[in-house]
Amino acid sequence: MSVALPAPPVDDADVPRWTAELGLPGLVDIHVHFLPEPMLRKVWAYFDRAEHNYGRPWPITYRFDEDTRVDVLRALGVQTFAPLVYPHKPDMAQWLNSWVLDFAARTPEAVPTATMYPEPGVADYLGAALDAGARCIKVHVQVGAFDPLDPLLDPAWALIAEAGVPAVVHCGHGPLRGDHTGLDVFEQVLTAHPDLVAVLAHAGMPDYLAALGLAERFENVYLDTTMVGTAFTADMVAPLPDNWPALLVDLGDKIVLGSDYPQLPYQYAEQLRAIHGWAAADDRLGAGFLRRVLHDTPARLLGV
Ligand SMILES: [Zn+2]
Repeated sequence: MSVALPAPPVDDADVPRWTAELGLPGLVDIHVHFLPEPMLRKVWAYFDRAEHNYGRPWPITYRFDEDTRVDVLRALGVQTFAPLVYPHKPDMAQWLNSWVLDFAARTPEAVPTATMYPEPGVADYLGAALDAGARCIKVHVQVGAFDPLDPLLDPAWALIAEAGVPAVVHCGHGPLRGDHTGLDVFEQVLTAHPDLVAVLAHAGMPDYLAALGLAERFENVYLDTTMVGTAFTADMVAPLPDNWPALLVDLGDKIVLGSDYPQLPYQYAEQLRAIHGWAAADDRLGAGFLRRVLHDTPARLLGV
């Protein structure tokens, strides 16, 4: 039971104590955002208008310069993270890919990543990014407002599947619905590319049960914990089902740590406390579940 677990982290400064007591060398976070400064400022301006855009305020906790944002992750003991970039229009993905490749080259904890958009040449620039070492691909169906089934993307999905590199796909209806969001839409991509290693961002929020169903049916489908189970998300989007911890018992190898850092309206430790709470709620989960979610499974997916 929870007796076997260390006390959850009370705040960010307490996180290294918690991970050490779990016997972990650190955390592996598959869902973090770093962007070119001008673009990041635009993203933050969007969150500043959150009452209009989301119907409630969304204060960004980690609004710092880039070096400080990396230092905060180091202080939390995040030993590896995937810095995810994503375009909202054509002619942008390739530029983001070269930026993030450079960011990863100067940031030891960051793995190289890439993104894509349905446009001519997508398979070429995605193939080049994979050749250059990209180890995680971000696909944002809601912000990009594109159909993941667009035929232009088909060869790109095939390349990602062949490379065995995880795609972190934001395809759920939350926090905002998009023209082509929905796990039923993305399921058709999985059916066409069964070898694709797909990480459903935000655990498919708000369709948590459908996301678990995909993880059950598709061997290579995972869920990330990004914003899942926090009070903010329960209020704004949807609370988790009451029996969530029990539902994870047979899928403990399919859940990976994600946070959305730095765009969090709360401390990073709050996300970790939510995950800790699942482990504490069912004695079939416990510390072993935490070690897999916080470190082992994301490390394996990212090839660490
Ligand atoms: Zn995100």
